[in-house]
Amino acid sequence: MKLYAPSTIKEIKERYGFRLSKSLGQNFLTDKHIIDRIIEAADIDAGDLIIEIGPGIGVLTREAAERAGRVVAVEIDRNLLPILEETLAGYDNVEVVNADILKTDVNRIIAESDCRKATIIGNLPYYITTPIIMNLLERGVKADSMIFMMQKEVADRIRAGAGSKTYGALSVAVQYYCSAELVTMVPKEVFFPAPKVDSAVLKLHIRKDKPVELNDEAMFFRCIKAGFGQRRKTLANSLQGIGGIDKEEVKECLRSLGIEENRRAETLSIEEFAAIANYFAKEQQG
Ligand code: SAM
Repeated sequence: MKLYAPSTIKEIKERYGFRLSKSLGQNFLTDKHIIDRIIEAADIDAGDLIIEIGPGIGVLTREAAERAGRVVAVEIDRNLLPILEETLAGYDNVEVVNADILKTDVNRIIAESDCRKATIIGNLPYYITTPIIMNLLERGVKADSMIFMMQKEVADRIRAGAGSKTYGALSVAVQYYCSAELVTMVPKEVFFPAPKVDSAVLKLHIRKDKPVELNDEAMFFRCIKAGFGQRRKTLANSLQGIGGIDKEEVKECLRSLGIEENRRAETLSIEEFAAIANYFAKEQQG
């Protein structure tokens, strides 16, 4: 059975009286080529744990289960559970967990499995793409990599470099934790139903060593948030007030680091953000 075929999805929907939920971002994949690209990028072998976010009717789950030691699929919609029971019948290495991924302790799932490497995959629900990614990264997810389908616009923001129009807090934050590789672009027509926007698949390789050394990680993220929170303002204006540091002290910091005070956050490299945050952290310690 071609589980991904629109005719199969429609047949399953009817048989189970299942209604697709727009608010849960239920746009199911219908293209075997894209499914294969995601599975190939996950580079799965028999010793691996795959955690899938939002299995839907199980198109990626089944392919992962064919290759991995263990698959844990976290699905919020309990109406999909009887369907998944049918489509995943016979795969005894798969566990479906009915939960919200944002409230799931992914590191506990990883710690409880004795698999050699953990990979997280998912055709993400677009209404919470950024919270899912940031939640996993900020909690120090113990996976090797994450292969995620997301809106093209979010993928562009994640991959953007300093100076580009799409460069922002998300670019710096994700690039601090990961290196991002574009796996493939995905046209909206390969989903049922088709969303309004095109998509892209990224492979986020979790860094073992961070690209910059920080004295105070929280300060680094405060600087990013403040800088991009008021991206039209110059750094001297947008960064003042962080940790009680006034405008003159921001200017002094920028001068000593050789960064012009009229630059804006969108032009700062991750190294420059790190240098500013380290200076501020030192100032705060007195
Ligand atoms: N993997 C399937 C596919 O590719 O056809 C479905 C992908 S669909 C874009 C997103 C899936 O995430 C849906 O099954 C939806 O119910 C599920 N979902 C939405 N919000 C979720 C959440 N907070 N936690 C876990 N799953 C969620």
